[in-house]
Amino acid sequence: MRLIEARNLEKTYEDGDVATHALRGVSFSIDQGEFVAVMGPSGSGKSTLLHLLGFLDRPTRGAYFFEGKNRNDYTDDESARIRNEKLGFVFQTFNLLPRTSVLENVKLPLLYSDVPEKEWDERAHSAIADVGLSHRISHEPSQLSGGERQRVAIARALVTKPEVIFADEPTGNLDSMSGKQVMGLLQALNEKGGHTIVLITHETYTARHARRALYIKDGNIEKDEMISEHLAADSFIK
Ligand code: ADP
Repeated sequence: MRLIEARNLEKTYEDGDVATHALRGVSFSIDQGEFVAVMGPSGSGKSTLLHLLGFLDRPTRGAYFFEGKNRNDYTDDESARIRNEKLGFVFQTFNLLPRTSVLENVKLPLLYSDVPEKEWDERAHSAIADVGLSHRISHEPSQLSGGERQRVAIARALVTKPEVIFADEPTGNLDSMSGKQVMGLLQALNEKGGHTIVLITHETYTARHARRALYIKDGNIEKDEMISEHLAADSFIK
């Protein structure tokens, strides 16, 4: 099933007299269950694209269809619901609440969802188990390694059982060993959990864990190809 379709997406930032054309008309589609890396140098438009696909911003021109419905036909309330229930986000800087336990951090998106409160604990425990951190459930972020923090952030993204996980440079702040674990986890979520994953990265090595790469340069898609030398990271998830 086609989950995401971008048709000639453009984004121009107007800042006084200066207009920056961050995206100049990009078209592509992503099917349910794909693992796609969006690659490109700094300033090429990757984050802008993520903001559009993640319902965080609207295009200047062009159309974005999510599950077959045009983004422009979603009200702000509907957009918030899609963001909360169908999309999960993982960031380079983890964005966890300090002085708050792993369990409470992971439960956070449920506060804004339609999931009944009596299911919150079970959902959060299950997401935390999925990332292999059940033994750290009462810890606070400052008591965890960088790799563990990112795994908590992934559990938080998973807790609403989203259709898509958007991961923006998820290994950017990690040592190579923790980075490999995080990539192994994303692969397991894709291959065993059936989640669609869109990974933003400027690193070829990281991108090779995905199945397909979209290369962006100067706001255009330069290449869209399957990854031939696919890397399989070891996963602790069985
Ligand atoms: P990347 O994620 O690939 O580094 P971005 O999407 O962040 O690229 O940026 C693409 C271009 O748009 C850059 O030239 C950047 O300076 C510009 N840009 C990004 N966000 C804004 C903004 N909010 N206002 C003005 N210009 C922006």
